[in-house]
Amino acid sequence: MKSFQAPVERRSFLKLFGAALGAFLVPGAWRGVLAAPAAAVPANDPVALAIGYVAGPSKIRVKGQNCSGCALYTAVDSQWGRCQMLTTGLVSSQGWCRSWSKK
Ligand code: SF4
Repeated sequence: MKSFQAPVERRSFLKLFGAALGAFLVPGAWRGVLAAPAAAVPANDPVALAIGYVAGPSKIRVKGQNCSGCALYTAVDSQWGRCQMLTTGLVSSQGWCRSWSKK
């Protein structure tokens, strides 16, 4: 009797394992999780406010300067990175602040 149950359990395990492996291997399936906006510097971050950080287009920013060209920026991916000034989250590669320093 036990020999009949083992193949069914094995089949169930293989189905579950295959589904999990398939979900993991889908191209870009983890990208949205890793680059979640929740990881960005909060809008009310006191340091960000003090240095005038903006995540995107703004009238106050200097043309040709953005975080990706700043010496304090380390890229995490093509859109986000870490800033040595702002430690509460990631900054946009297209962001800017008054502390911008050429790489
Ligand atoms: S210091 Fe550089 S990397 Fe940090 S927010 Fe300002 S421009 Fe961006």
